[in-house]
Amino acid sequence: MKRIIILGSTGSIGTQTADVVRDNNRRAKERGEGEPFKIMGLAANKNSDMVEKQVREFGVKYVAMYDEGAANDLRKRLKDTDAVVYSGMDGLNELAGKDDYDVLVTAIVGMIGIRPTITAIKNKKDIALANKETLVTAGHIIMPLAKENNVKILPVDSEHSAIFQSLQGNPEGRIKRILLTASGGPFRGYTKEQLKDVTVERALKHPNWTMGRKITIDSATMVNKGLEVMEARWLFNVGYDDITVVVHPQSILHSAVEYVDGAVIGQMGMPDMKLPIQYALFYPGRELMEGNKLDLFSVGHLDFIKPDPEVFVGLDLAFKAGRKAGNLPTVFNAANEMAVALFLDKKISFTGITDIIKDCMDNIGFKDAPSLEEILETESATYEFIKSKYIK
Ligand code: NDP
Repeated sequence: MKRIIILGSTGSIGTQTADVVRDNNRRAKERGEGEPFKIMGLAANKNSDMVEKQVREFGVKYVAMYDEGAANDLRKRLKDTDAVVYSGMDGLNELAGKDDYDVLVTAIVGMIGIRPTITAIKNKKDIALANKETLVTAGHIIMPLAKENNVKILPVDSEHSAIFQSLQGNPEGRIKRILLTASGGPFRGYTKEQLKDVTVERALKHPNWTMGRKITIDSATMVNKGLEVMEARWLFNVGYDDITVVVHPQSILHSAVEYVDGAVIGQMGMPDMKLPIQYALFYPGRELMEGNKLDLFSVGHLDFIKPDPEVFVGLDLAFKAGRKAGNLPTVFNAANEMAVALFLDKKISFTGITDIIKDCMDNIGFKDAPSLEEILETESATYEFIKSKYIK
C-alpha cells in the first residue's frame, strides 16, 4: 500500500488525486484485493468545508490549513475524529516531515509549495510534482537535493508525464530534443491586436482542459508553456536549445522525445489529468483507468504548428528568463502571478499580463544561483515593484 500526503487537496489536481485514490481503492476492493492507496495527510489554504469531507471519507490522520482561521474552524468540525490539524507554513512542513507516508503530492498553487517540498525530499519521500513553481524558481536547489537523497521526482503535469513515459526503457543521455506540445489555448491564431480586447470570461474558457483559474489564464497567454519549458529543463536535465514547443490544437499527443537516431517517441491519450496523476502514483506500474479512451478514427488527424513569438510574448520571455537563469525565472513567475490576479480582477488588460512580466524582468535586480531566501526576497521585490507601479 502506498501512503500519500496531498498538499492542495481541494484544488483541481488535489481533487483529481483523491478521485484516483477512490477509484483504485474501490476497484481493488471489488476484486477482493487490499487497497493500493491510503491518504495519510491533506493540506489546503481556506477550504475547510471540503477538507472536512475529505478527512471523513478517507480517514485522514493529519491536516494542515495554511489559513489560521480555517485551521481553527476545522479543529472544531473534526472534534469527533482523531485527525490532528496544523496551520501556516509550519503546518505544511509538519506534514511533509512525517515519517509514516511514502509520496508527497505537491498540488498547491504558487511558490508556497517550495519549502514543504524541500522538507519532504530531506525526509527521503518521493515527490509527485504538480506544482510548477517549485522547479521553475528553485530547480537548481531541488534537483541536486533529490539526487543526494535518492528521491524520485515524478512529474504530474501532463506534458512532463508524457516525456517521462517516453523516456522509459531508453538509454540515458541519447535525447536529441524534447518536443513539448501546447494546445495554443483559446486564442491560437489571434493577432496581437485581437488579444488586446480579450475578456476574463473568454480567457477562462480553455478549449481542451478543465483546470484551476490561474493556470487557465496561463494557458491562454502561453506563460504556462513557458513555465513548463523551465520545468522540463530541470526535470530532464536538458538545455533550452533542446526544447522545442509545438502547438498541437487537439491535445492528443501530450509531448514527445526525439532521440539521436531520429526516433520520436511520444505519449498520446485523451486530455485527462487523472492519467498522469495515476501514472505518478503507480510508477513504474500501470493500472486500469475508467473513462473515455482515445479513438484515433474519431480524431482523424493531428495538427502541429509553430508558435508565433510575436503574439505569444509570454513564451519568448520564459525562454529568455530560463536561459539567463539566476533569479529571473522567479521574477517571471512572481510577476505573472500578480499580473494574472490583476487581470482576473479586471484591473489590467490581457496583454497587460506580459507587459508587466517584461517590465519586472527589465527592472528587478539580477542574482545568480539564488538561495531559497534570495528566491523569496525576489518574489517580494517583484510584488512590491508591481504594487508601487500598477496598483493605485
Ligand atoms: P487550484 O487553484 O485548483 O488549487 C490550488 C490548491 O492549493 C487548493 O487546494 C488551495 O487550497 C491550495 N492552496 C493555495 N494556497 C495555499 C496555501 N498558502 N497553503 C496551502 N494550500 C494552498 O490549482 P490547480 O490544482 O489547478 O494547480 C495546482 C498546481 O498544479 C499549480 O502549480 C499548477 O500550475 C499545477 N498544475 C495544474 C494542472 C491542472 O490541470 N490544474 C496541470 C498541471 C500542473 P484552497 O482551496 O483552500 O484555497
